[in-house]
Amino acid sequence: MKSLVEIRRDLHKIPEIGFQEFKTQRYLLETLQPLMTPFMKIIQWKTGLIVRIEGVNPTFKLGWRTDIDGLPVDEQTGLEFASEHTGFMHACGHDIHMTIALGLVERFTKVQPQQTMIIFFQPAEEGPGGAEPMLAWVKEAHPEWVPDYMFACHIAPEYPVGTVATRAGMLFANTSELFIDLKGVGGHAAFPHQTKDMTIAAANLIMQLQTIVSRNINPLEGSVITVGKLTSGTVQNVISDYARLEGTIRTVTADAMARIKERIEALCRATEIGFECEVTIDYGAMYYQVFNQEASANALLSYAKEQEGMISYECPPAMTGEDFGFFLKEIPGAMFWAGANTEYGLHHSKINPDESLIEKNVAFVEGFLRQFA
Ligand SMILES: [Zn+2]
Ligand SMILES: [Zn+2]
Repeated sequence: MKSLVEIRRDLHKIPEIGFQEFKTQRYLLETLQPLMTPFMKIIQWKTGLIVRIEGVNPTFKLGWRTDIDGLPVDEQTGLEFASEHTGFMHACGHDIHMTIALGLVERFTKVQPQQTMIIFFQPAEEGPGGAEPMLAWVKEAHPEWVPDYMFACHIAPEYPVGTVATRAGMLFANTSELFIDLKGVGGHAAFPHQTKDMTIAAANLIMQLQTIVSRNINPLEGSVITVGKLTSGTVQNVISDYARLEGTIRTVTADAMARIKERIEALCRATEIGFECEVTIDYGAMYYQVFNQEASANALLSYAKEQEGMISYECPPAMTGEDFGFFLKEIPGAMFWAGANTEYGLHHSKINPDESLIEKNVAFVEGFLRQFA
């Protein structure tokens, strides 16, 4: 196998978006092939892969998950191994995550683990979401491949390399996209009574949406509804027959997400009546909260504390989303932030994680999974 840094740079050059990870899948298969041993198996699901390494004397199965997709971001790092796919970039560190997973497979095939390890290379984390359908397929087609515990990490630009930051309970929020289409009747700006103006309806609906968090959600819980984009109309003297709102919802509990959607639906129905129009809602990609099992999160933190050169940090929750939440919804386990020490944030066109985090985290995760009991 090539060095992990070489592998990471190869992967960095070929970012592909959700369910288009064809080159990535081929590269992963080519890298895994020479590692094949009689106790290792690979199955494919869409553009993803699952690797199973049978334990010597297994009493349970441990899962590790990496995401494999890139983003439609135009890379501006100027690195020699920058993306060769114009307009696309591994700007969320999934190239690093994949390399860590490959490093784990290499180590577990060299020294067979006691417990069975199941390593998921999951497509489409950034959208439309690969975790939920991948797990549903495994449960249906290969139930003996469903792990008893699941773990994963995500790079964290703001923490130094070696940091393992996590917490018991919610780590990442419940998130949902939000698209609302309003259809009315257009016409001449001077004859409003003959139209159903969708600019007015949309403006009114946006203001009403802002009452949900303030009036319907427990203030101690905290939630966000952001309408980031509004489109309506074509020109200054024609009344708009169509408007579209695009936004996102973030909550710290699954119940708050359900309640917010209930209120959005009611306000959209009210808009239909109030403005004589047709309103449709599409929630797009929806990610269940990343909810860490207490024992698993604490096991990560205390193992990190014992390791030289690692920093164990009990961090606050974040309003970001991660589709690993769908794994943790059904399988106990935990996710952690792995320090990447780079000045630019996730999804930024200049993000450049410190590659020394790869070896460090492979060693940490290998050690952690081997001793997990
Ligand atoms: Zn991302
Ligand atoms: Zn990510």
